[in-house]
Amino acid sequence: MARGTGDKVVVPAGHAPTGQPVFVITDKEKTSGRDARHMNILAARAVVDSVKSTLGPLGMDKMLIDPLGNITVTNDGAVILREMSIEHPSAKMVIDGAKTQEDVAGDGTTSVVVLVGALLDAAEKLMDAGVHPTVLVSGYKMAAERAQQVLDSLARRVERTNDATLREIAKTAMMGKGPEVYADTLAEMCVRAVKGVEDNGAVDVKENIKLIKRVGLRSENTELINGIVIDKERSHPSMPRRVKNAKIALLNKGIEAKKPQTKAKMKIESAEQLAEFMQEDVRVVEEQVKRFAELGVNVVMTEMGIDDIGNSLLSKYGIFAVERLLSDDLKRISRAVGARIVSTASDLKPEDLGEAGLVEEVGKAGFLADKYIYIHDAKNTKAVTIVIHAGSENVADEVERALEDALKVVACAVEDQTVVAGGAAPEMEMALRLRQYANTLKGREQLAVQAYAEALEAIPKALAENSGLDVIDTLVALRSAHEGGRTTAGIDVFSGDIIDMWEANVIEPLRVKRQMISTATEIVCMILRLDEILASERREPSIAEKHWPKSYEMAKRRGMKGNIPGT
Ligand code: ADP
Ligand code: MG
Repeated sequence: MARGTGDKVVVPAGHAPTGQPVFVITDKEKTSGRDARHMNILAARAVVDSVKSTLGPLGMDKMLIDPLGNITVTNDGAVILREMSIEHPSAKMVIDGAKTQEDVAGDGTTSVVVLVGALLDAAEKLMDAGVHPTVLVSGYKMAAERAQQVLDSLARRVERTNDATLREIAKTAMMGKGPEVYADTLAEMCVRAVKGVEDNGAVDVKENIKLIKRVGLRSENTELINGIVIDKERSHPSMPRRVKNAKIALLNKGIEAKKPQTKAKMKIESAEQLAEFMQEDVRVVEEQVKRFAELGVNVVMTEMGIDDIGNSLLSKYGIFAVERLLSDDLKRISRAVGARIVSTASDLKPEDLGEAGLVEEVGKAGFLADKYIYIHDAKNTKAVTIVIHAGSENVADEVERALEDALKVVACAVEDQTVVAGGAAPEMEMALRLRQYANTLKGREQLAVQAYAEALEAIPKALAENSGLDVIDTLVALRSAHEGGRTTAGIDVFSGDIIDMWEANVIEPLRVKRQMISTATEIVCMILRLDEILASERREPSIAEKHWPKSYEMAKRRGMKGNIPGT
């Protein structure tokens, strides 16, 4: 975006900004210049303050209460930001940035926000001293570019086969987030899950790794299923409960006798006629079931229903069936077991069938919600499920959030194969080298690069503060360790000592840090470039505007507004 300062954000109050400036229709309130900038920074800072104290393994928790009174206790910055209801456009930009970080790198959301806050604070000081925002923006960009180079120089390679390091990466991301006693088990599971779905060096966590929560059993029962778990039960209890060497057919219709047309009347006058009619019904279903048997199918899963006749015939042939699956689940199963989804049995060809080592129904009888279908050892194991067991829903949620972060960072490490030490080591090293770089620059940009360096130190500061350490002492010690060439020196949050984070196995993917720099810089520059806020009066959108936005826009431009119904 080659834009200078002076961009105007015009936000119809109450409407989300799209990132790009929206143009105003009626401006009722207008704030410009320094005031606008100050207000933007103030609003962004409110977001920063709400998550800063959660940074690091010893960060504090926040209690979130939604409008329905549900309570979540978490120290996951991403969750807090997601739940906050924010109105101010620049505060929303910060939240969008955290979301980008989460999407791209899976971790480092709190760090991004803390860095944004520090960069804005530093910028404000310089602006008060008369530095123009344009200069700041270009200086920050130079600093960010150099910081990325520093990060690259710090990166180490980790092979995909290096499970031990991958486990440490998972543990670093989960630090302080889940039940720590099981951290080793959970980390091991993350690595197995990610490697189970890795495909030519790429990992699609969202698509291929599913997390399911079950409340009741203890956390150590949390298990990794090579395959899929679905929240369903067999369509009839007289079917087999376990099927080994499953041959699986997937249908996007059901197995049902044809229903008579709604309005059609049928006159059945004798018992024979009734029997005949019934037999015809049975015959249609039986043909389908026989086709399954012919192909050696022993598991059938359908998107629509299976009726009584279907159930009794399937049971008779010893076929395990599940009905009314969500179409997304059906697709997931199809990928995992290598089956093609067809509409009816008559369309089925041998090559459409999928395979799995074992399909079974598990769970307590009598509790519908407690039954699950497990598909183990699917032919194509590009899908795995982690079943999280926990004593309560809150704990299950906590473990889920910890696992989500850990899975994503392990996936990043497997994809990129580059990592850096954590514990604020990279931030301090970047700060040090940016200061050296600033000395080689002339003019006001030098000030901006120095300010960037100072802002990076907000991360070790917050880490120290949240761990109950003396902030100044810790920072001074950390700085001098880096000046002495210890590039991986970081903060041991438990003892307060400055230690080698690499040796302490606090390891993070390079991508998390690179993305932190680029997202934070982008957002800060965007906020600094705004010098006007024009808020139009809040109003409800008309029916036409809401439902046919394009036609509404067009009509409005042609001055036909009064003629559109609903305006
Ligand atoms: P974010 O949302 O930014 O990931 P976290 O609360 O997860 O925030 O904290 C991440 C920070 O904590 C990183 O800088 C990471 O290196 C650091 N960290 C994680 N584990 C440790 C540890 N055992 N010792 C010191 N620092 C740690
Ligand atoms: Mg984290």
